[in-house]
Amino acid sequence: MPRAAFVTLSRVTVNIDPLVARMQGFGTTVFAEMTALAVRTGAINLGQGFPDTDGPAKLLETAAEAIRGGANQYPPGPGLPELREAVAAQRAERHSLDYDPSAEVLVTVGATEAIAATLLALVETGEEVVVFEPYYDSYAAIIALSGAVRRPVTLRPEGGRFTFDPAELRAAVTPRTKLILLNSPHNPTGTVFSRGELEVIADLCREHDLIAVTDEVYEYLTYDAEHVPLATLPGMRERTVAISSAGKTFSVTGWKTGWITAPPEFVRAVQTVKQFLTFTASAPYQRAVAYALREELAWVETLRTSLRSKRDRLTGGLEAAGLIAFRPQGTYFVQADVRPLGFADGREFTRVLHERAGIVAIPAQVFYDSDAGDPYVRFAFCKRDEVIDDAVRRLGRIAV
Ligand code: PMP
Ligand code: GLN
Repeated sequence: MPRAAFVTLSRVTVNIDPLVARMQGFGTTVFAEMTALAVRTGAINLGQGFPDTDGPAKLLETAAEAIRGGANQYPPGPGLPELREAVAAQRAERHSLDYDPSAEVLVTVGATEAIAATLLALVETGEEVVVFEPYYDSYAAIIALSGAVRRPVTLRPEGGRFTFDPAELRAAVTPRTKLILLNSPHNPTGTVFSRGELEVIADLCREHDLIAVTDEVYEYLTYDAEHVPLATLPGMRERTVAISSAGKTFSVTGWKTGWITAPPEFVRAVQTVKQFLTFTASAPYQRAVAYALREELAWVETLRTSLRSKRDRLTGGLEAAGLIAFRPQGTYFVQADVRPLGFADGREFTRVLHERAGIVAIPAQVFYDSDAGDPYVRFAFCKRDEVIDDAVRRLGRIAV
């Protein structure tokens, strides 16, 4: 939405809109807006996805020690070697994917910068990017900033989970398509793409010579499905940029330490952009995350077990309150259909939910171009059990 602003330049007041045309329509992110609402009103925040408990104690201590020990100056642009080695080792151990830490791993300021630098580096103005809607909000903004065009393919409920129609995906690919941007485990639906679904995507990439960019920030947070990196499929390693981050895996979303793994020519291209966005990422956190990837995966397993039970707790509560909740296979979000409670629109539902129950959630329509998301609301369950139980009790106030 164009916004007029009055800017005073010396003694002249000029009526201009300082925001570039490419970013018109992008206001404050829904996550910032909803968290501000929860803080202002004391509501329960099931909106923005951040845990309300800390990551492993030794991880926090390692960061503090790194600061005390003097790791306080610029680390190398591509990232600390020990973190790049830990990332490569993790890909090799879990998925038998071999990456050279010195040429095929790049450390970024969270997955957010990885997504931004990757798209800015790889997509020309006017080229098209296929994304699955609902999509994470930064995708649309970065596609717009890179001057590209997004081609959404809608995930729809089928058999209790959200999936895509292969014919629709095929139809979204045109001669201008440059890449497919995929998020699995998927925020906000909780879908973990099956091998069969990934094969459909891989076929298209190979057939049309497309690049795949995979956002795998929830790679460890799966409950009853296996996370399969697209790069493990035949012919995909050489055309895939895989993105991940420590925020979700180790409950340190504020640390903003992420990375890409990709063939060297992609890493060089992304690094060319990344060095002018931030040059490098925070040194002490890199050291701590390298430690965690080596030593704290048992802790991640306990997190996963605990999140599985929180998922069931919240999903059960939403169902008891009369919503249709789609039990997620991964991530820490549940997407629910509010129509059984008499609401046609998720935005209206979240307004009433806040007013009557003091709960903040996210209307999923903000993640869609089409109106397919109108009846859905996203709830985060990465919260203490007592917070989830309190929210579930309050949900009773919504029934009309
Ligand atoms: N992608 C998805 C799907 C996300 O949910 C998030 C939020 N963590 C990000 C990217 C951004 O990750 P980071 O905080 O590491 O920048
Ligand atoms: N990834 C988090 C979510 O989906 C939010 C991150 C942010 O606030 N940008 O809730």
